[in-house]
Amino acid sequence: MTDFARQCFVCGKAVDPEQVEKNRQFNLPVCSDCKDTDREKEAIAQLLEGMAEGFVCGCI
Ligand SMILES: [Zn+2]
Repeated sequence: MTDFARQCFVCGKAVDPEQVEKNRQFNLPVCSDCKDTDREKEAIAQLLEGMAEGFVCGCI
C-alpha cells in the first residue's frame, strides 16, 4: 500500500514527512526537486481531474 505522507506526490520519491515541504493546496508532500516546477503543476492538474471525475455535481 502506498503511503502518501512519505513520498513526493509528483515523482514518488521517498521523503521524510517531518522535513518535507508540502503543497499548500492539497497538503501533500513534495520533494525539493519537484517543488515549484512545471511537473508539480502537472501533477496537481491530474489530481484535480481525478477529483472532478469522482464528484457528482448537482449544480448544473
Ligand atoms: Zn519529487
